[in-house]
Amino acid sequence: MKKIFAANWKLNKTPEQAREFVIQFKNEAFKHADFFKTCEVILFPQAFGLEAVSSLCAGTEIGFGPQNIYFEKSGAFTGENSAEVASVALKAKFALIGHSERREIFKEIDGQLNKKNILVQSLKMTSVFCIGESLQQREAFQTLPVCFAQLDAGLAGLDQNVRVIVAYEPVWAIGTGKVATLEQVAEVHQAINDKLEARGFKSFQILYGGSVKADNAASLLKVPHVDGFLIGGASLEVSSFLNVCLAN
Ligand code: PEP
Repeated sequence: MKKIFAANWKLNKTPEQAREFVIQFKNEAFKHADFFKTCEVILFPQAFGLEAVSSLCAGTEIGFGPQNIYFEKSGAFTGENSAEVASVALKAKFALIGHSERREIFKEIDGQLNKKNILVQSLKMTSVFCIGESLQQREAFQTLPVCFAQLDAGLAGLDQNVRVIVAYEPVWAIGTGKVATLEQVAEVHQAINDKLEARGFKSFQILYGGSVKADNAASLLKVPHVDGFLIGGASLEVSSFLNVCLAN
């Protein structure tokens, strides 16, 4: 099974910088024999960079998609991103849903995220659906209940025969340089795996996210049920992103 390396560029990169990244990344990746046989790469540019990424990635093995979509396809929703446009016009196959920054800063709640996942699936795209606990919740021993509640709410009503990708991102590890320990990652990934199986999902992968870098990637990838990463800071430069992929 390929490991997944998903890049969350957040509010960074102009379309030109996104284009340069993809061109350089393709050049570098193809220097490594079998790179795309072992690695599945997904790029999440900000909305203004999506067309640039699409023009260079559509028809290649590099997946891409928006960092957020609205749960309606079109209409009077000023300022939102259309998943249908991403899918049909830009050929995006993925969408990042429920990142903790969306939940915290933009107050997105479980019911909305569920509608987004349902729309994404109806468009034959795949969600990279983010879940994870805050530091306060971890310290209150609420990690698994929080993750399960987010999973249950976010994935309700989805077709369990269709692929879904879950990204476990402890909020306290995102952009902080603090990485969850291998034991913490192992416990939560095992629990998510068991939960998804119990819910009848047949095709899923579970990513870890939170300060992943080239020097911690190899050990994290060995943890059972870590099927890849969602990467923020280290995905912004081709060299650091490629080095995380090459830890595979
Ligand atoms: C993220 O933005 O999802 C993330 C994991 O960021 P970082 O790798 O910088 O912690």
